[in-house]
Amino acid sequence: MRWSQAFIPTLRDDPADAEAVSHQLLIRGGFARQLMSGVYSLLPLGQRVCRKIADLVRSEMERIGGQEFRLPALHPAEIWQRSGRWEAMGDEMFRFTDRRGSDVGLGMTHEEVFAHLAGELRSYKQLPQIWYQIQTKFRDEPRPKSGLLRVREFTMKDSYSLDIDPEGLDFAFQRHFEAYRRIFSRCGLEALAVEASSGSMGGNESVEFMVPSPAGEDWIASCSSCGHAGNLEKITSRLAPMEDGPGLEAPERFATPGLRSIEDIASFEHGAPADRQIKTLIYVLDGSVVQVLLRGDHELMEQKLLDATGAGELRPASDDEIRAALGALPGSLGPVGVEGLRVLADASLRGRRDMVTGANLDDFHLRGVDVERDIVSPEWLDLREVKAGDGCPLCDAPLDVSQTIEIGHIFKLGTRYSEALGAKVLDDSGASRPIVMGSYGVGIERTMASVVERHHDDRGIIWPVEIAPFEVVITVLNPKDVATLEAGTALYEALLAQGIDALLDDRNERPGVKFKDAELVGIPFRVTVGPKGLERGILEFQPRDVDTGQEIEILKASVTIAEAVLERRTQH
Ligand SMILES: [Zn+2]
Repeated sequence: MRWSQAFIPTLRDDPADAEAVSHQLLIRGGFARQLMSGVYSLLPLGQRVCRKIADLVRSEMERIGGQEFRLPALHPAEIWQRSGRWEAMGDEMFRFTDRRGSDVGLGMTHEEVFAHLAGELRSYKQLPQIWYQIQTKFRDEPRPKSGLLRVREFTMKDSYSLDIDPEGLDFAFQRHFEAYRRIFSRCGLEALAVEASSGSMGGNESVEFMVPSPAGEDWIASCSSCGHAGNLEKITSRLAPMEDGPGLEAPERFATPGLRSIEDIASFEHGAPADRQIKTLIYVLDGSVVQVLLRGDHELMEQKLLDATGAGELRPASDDEIRAALGALPGSLGPVGVEGLRVLADASLRGRRDMVTGANLDDFHLRGVDVERDIVSPEWLDLREVKAGDGCPLCDAPLDVSQTIEIGHIFKLGTRYSEALGAKVLDDSGASRPIVMGSYGVGIERTMASVVERHHDDRGIIWPVEIAPFEVVITVLNPKDVATLEAGTALYEALLAQGIDALLDDRNERPGVKFKDAELVGIPFRVTVGPKGLERGILEFQPRDVDTGQEIEILKASVTIAEAVLERRTQH
């Protein structure tokens, strides 16, 4: 490509609303443009990067035996109704009615359609299968942000494994795990594999691949001692044991006028420190009011509440609902003696005595509460958010908490979708069995944005060679000088002939503008061709990630450059 004819609209300034570095640089570098909230056009440079990422993903999927499909984005409601997700997906799914009056959804994932197709399989002898596609997905995110990291329309590689039994699924899951490691490593991303919540996908085990970044929206806890790591939505921790006194024979009410929060009670002279208080939250879970209990210094992780109860929806109860259920308002709520309401309690409260909590009477609390004695049939669950410094659940070393971007997620689904969509085969005894499925996803544009988050400096992007839009830019310093332009063009053609992805910057711009643009768009190698160098038979060659160039002989230039590029392409 000649830059003079290319559409690479670089900008001098960051877009006004862009906080994430990848958002700023992908817009400024002319890779993408926003069309509406959470919806982006990929410009030629962005498309080149995404195509390279997709090809790389494709090669790794083929390597584990994947077969490529292409499924529709338009889905009939019926197929999602059969899995129960037409309701469960709520407002996140784009839906409309077609001219015949039929309900149609835009696919946000394809478990249903693949399970429907798997209904054509007849025998265990046809298994295992790995089916995949690279295709557009739609999700009506409530808060699209961070540029290409959280969007409403995006490209995803989604794959599905089909096996006769759970052992087959374990094997397919492991194969995907290894393929994902290779994919991210080839993209220049050091991804951390963490335990994750399966959310609305169902199934019993899932692993996320995470890249540390301040632009991320997921928080993980990890143990530097044993390597255990998990999403905060999933991971548990060990707590130092608490020693409680014998407490009172029965809870005792005391006045706490105007004291509403855990902190208020902690600093009140007749109160108790936060870890000696019971925090009472009232939620509505799938339409029913429930009590959620935590230690005063802990926070609820809502996803854990959903996962532990199997509920589809939750929201905090309104003041009216709370008053109707407990007779008091937030600030004076407690679980003692409450009957007829489900009590979901974090396991850290188990066996505690001499605790303080609200009395269900405005401006009163109770002291001397014995959890086992005074609370009616609590269900013990893991509900609290793990904090930095909590003990690793495996080795007890202190956990670190960090902000990350999720770049891949793999799930063991089991038979939920195959049962719902009728994907069954005959096993070796002639019995009909539902196919055991796994599902595996990588977002293509999100991977591109994550690479920018990890590979940039204050001048722009620094693409890893494997996914760079171009591998080499040849900067012609004075294209009006015929000899210089001819030398640059000859080198450009020699590089193309060797299979190197080269861009010839033949624009009539000042050298400073050209250097700045090349650095901004992040091309891994630059060769500068100028009249003075040509007189001495040399060019300047500079990798994007080092500060100084080196002189190379013009006669050997194409070979030297091709060798440098090939060395940086991943071996595979
Ligand atoms: Zn550990």
